[in-house]
Amino acid sequence: MEVACPVAPADDWVARTAGEVRAEAERRHPGLPPTCASGISPSGPVHLGNLRELMVPHLIADEIRKQGAPCRHILSWDDYDRLRRVPAGFPESFAEYIGRPLTAVPDPCGQHANWAEHFKEPLREALAGLGIVVTEISQTQMYTSGAYTEQIVTAMRRRADIGAVLARYQTKRGAEPDDDDPQTAVYYPFRPYCAVCGRDDTTVTAFDDETTEITYTCTCGARVGPTPIAEVAGKLAWKVDWPMRWAYERVTFEPAGVDHSSPGSSFTVGEELVSEIFGGQMPLHFGYAFVGFTGGSSKISSSAGRAPTPADALKIFEAPLLRWLYARKRPEESITLAFDAEVIRVYDEWDALTKRVAEGTAGAPAQANFARASGTAEGPLPVTPRPLPFRTLASVADITAGDEAQILRILRLLTAEDPIRILDEVRPRLDCAEHWVAEYAAPADRTQVRDEPDTDRLAALTDSERDALKLLTEGMAADWSLEGLTTLLYGVPKMQRGLPISAPPTAELRISQRAWFILLYQLLIGKDTGPRLPTLLLALGQDRIRALLTPG
Ligand SMILES: [Zn+2]
Ligand SMILES: [Zn+2]
Repeated sequence: MEVACPVAPADDWVARTAGEVRAEAERRHPGLPPTCASGISPSGPVHLGNLRELMVPHLIADEIRKQGAPCRHILSWDDYDRLRRVPAGFPESFAEYIGRPLTAVPDPCGQHANWAEHFKEPLREALAGLGIVVTEISQTQMYTSGAYTEQIVTAMRRRADIGAVLARYQTKRGAEPDDDDPQTAVYYPFRPYCAVCGRDDTTVTAFDDETTEITYTCTCGARVGPTPIAEVAGKLAWKVDWPMRWAYERVTFEPAGVDHSSPGSSFTVGEELVSEIFGGQMPLHFGYAFVGFTGGSSKISSSAGRAPTPADALKIFEAPLLRWLYARKRPEESITLAFDAEVIRVYDEWDALTKRVAEGTAGAPAQANFARASGTAEGPLPVTPRPLPFRTLASVADITAGDEAQILRILRLLTAEDPIRILDEVRPRLDCAEHWVAEYAAPADRTQVRDEPDTDRLAALTDSERDALKLLTEGMAADWSLEGLTTLLYGVPKMQRGLPISAPPTAELRISQRAWFILLYQLLIGKDTGPRLPTLLLALGQDRIRALLTPG
């Protein structure tokens, strides 16, 4: 059951939602800034799908800030949750920590304070790169500091009421049982982390409403209590914890994945609990659709079977472009991020939009999405000073195998009218292109220039082919530029027919041009297709071209 964004399709959902969030905050808590909330569990690698959990509230909070009003965007790290399972790609030895808080599990690499920090750090870096400003809240810090003690005591005293609400929405028969669902006659919404073994394999056996003392047992054999609950480590069940925090943080807006929005889900249960138990109000909310990805040809799909992370995406997409891929979609639209050759097309689309915006010909919605993608209330995001087409940079990176001197030489030839001086002028886009070629370009699309001439093919040339190659090798030096080579390459079949080099193309000419280009690709790189030929020729240089194209 989807909860679609309530903003009508014709409306700008970011502007409309931001307006509603401001008005609702003012109505609920006059004078206090609105709070937009995101929640992330650092239990394993935080993947690209989770970025939507941050991007949707960010776009709303940033819209409000751009209007000159303050807005909080909190990122609640669910780092006091139990480790449920060891994620794929991590040693099975971590299984002994299952049941402990994520912050009590050792760091898998040895460079972070704990398991949770290990997965927080790359996301923090990605958020900084994307211009997403959040206030981090560690649930470990909140629970262990006693910040929620009053709320925990309230929940325990009202356990019968909470149990009744949960029972009403209890997971339907046949569905997976849910940790939060009351399994026993007496329901306690608080689960201790055992004082002896540190795990949450505990069962509360008693709670004294007057003294607030709790008693529990653990599967490890421990029997603890009665002890004041304020001194006991533990946390509220998820479906109770979430509405408690809505009230505690005065959350005005918190979207969630569509799976959280169905009947009986955390949202419907939370809506009842936040007001009845915690005296707060349900945040404005809606569901957002799934984020998928395609074309992780190499590293992403194979290594440890993990889904791509925001950090992976930032290695191939400039930050404003990655923001745009999220910002241009309405919440109810799913997003598919491609890592294959589609990346080239996405860059072309982005460059075309950038041009239309600069010329003032972009429509209002496209312009709004562009503005949200390319800057935040903090200012514009860094851009590539000379944004050459991604296709060109990828070709050059491919042909040169990353040799920087060669890259600079070729890019200068390609920008002959206003040559680039240093490679920094084409960064970070060049780095993205190099990374994409190395990690994601299909092996069949990679270019490998022949080391030696194809002597068999050269020996089998027809007279016409031999003549065409001669026209190229003898004519190329006259105008050794992108434009000159383009004219010459298309012109060779015309000259062979006695036509002027500027003759307009005909169907017949196109057929012979195609055959001519295939011949060149075969002799240069051993395939029928490849990078644009003028670029390839400039990259190779005249000596190498002659060596590969001259019959012995
Ligand atoms: Zn680590
Ligand atoms: Zn124990």
